[in-house]
Amino acid sequence: MRLGRDYLLGTPVIISPERAKRPHQYSYEEPPPSPEELKNCPFCPGNEHLTPSEHLRITNTSGRWQVRIFPNKFKIWKIHDVIVDTPEHLKDWDEVDLRPLFEAIKRRIGQIYKEHPEVKWISLFRNYGKLAGASIRHSHLQLIALDFVPERIQRLVEKLSGEKCAICRGEWKEGVLIKESMFFRLLFVQGAQPYELELHLKSHKPSPEFLEKEEVEEALLFLKAVVKAFKKFFSSYNVLFFLAPRDRDFHFFVRIFPRVTFYAGFEFESGIVVNPLDPGKAFEFLGEEILSALRFFGFE
Ligand SMILES: [Zn+2]
Ligand SMILES: [Zn+2]
Repeated sequence: MRLGRDYLLGTPVIISPERAKRPHQYSYEEPPPSPEELKNCPFCPGNEHLTPSEHLRITNTSGRWQVRIFPNKFKIWKIHDVIVDTPEHLKDWDEVDLRPLFEAIKRRIGQIYKEHPEVKWISLFRNYGKLAGASIRHSHLQLIALDFVPERIQRLVEKLSGEKCAICRGEWKEGVLIKESMFFRLLFVQGAQPYELELHLKSHKPSPEFLEKEEVEEALLFLKAVVKAFKKFFSSYNVLFFLAPRDRDFHFFVRIFPRVTFYAGFEFESGIVVNPLDPGKAFEFLGEEILSALRFFGFE
């Protein structure tokens, strides 16, 4: 065992390899949805009246909505949105076109910064599956706009701005690279969770709204591929989009990890996380699966 650290987030991590598990050891089948679940799902078409009124929606050419954004009924801060990213109850990212989602998020973030001068930072994340914190199975993301910058994000800004940006200087090499494409890198990192992945742009940009069209296309395919590989083994995972605070320089990145371990007494007390898997082992156990999903989506 050894003590390591997340190269960006700074989380201290104890690697205890004798607890390492292969991905199939986490396999878990979700039960199929009951007729009640399908009938009462507030995110399904036909049930729009069950959600608060929309901030925006994106429709396709036949007038069917693809993405809806509305306030969370159980908000934890003043601006807390739900983003439903597909009209289909059980479809996940590997099976849907993510371009309308990207467009919707970009518009909504622009709208919030324009209409709410007090907003300093926006948290954007996706909880998929019960263990990741999703209370409704229908795919969705959440967005929480804060009128302050959390300490951890403040520290990240210091690490990821200007000349000394940790990603641009190559500190990510502590992780294990899975695939480098024209614009992006996908790697396993020493995070707080086993199989934690990072996707980052090779060039320095603060937020996805600055991406060129080709960069967006690539990013979306990477996300689809990771989800496709994860879903084979894991029932629950989180996707975190780390975005720049308002008007700050930053190098935006995404973290994705399955929910397979849980904090216990030691983690809460010491602030040190026990992670059984180093990035090398993660690559050994799951690398081929991810590479094959990437090939499926056209990355040779
Ligand atoms: Zn639904
Ligand atoms: Zn950078």
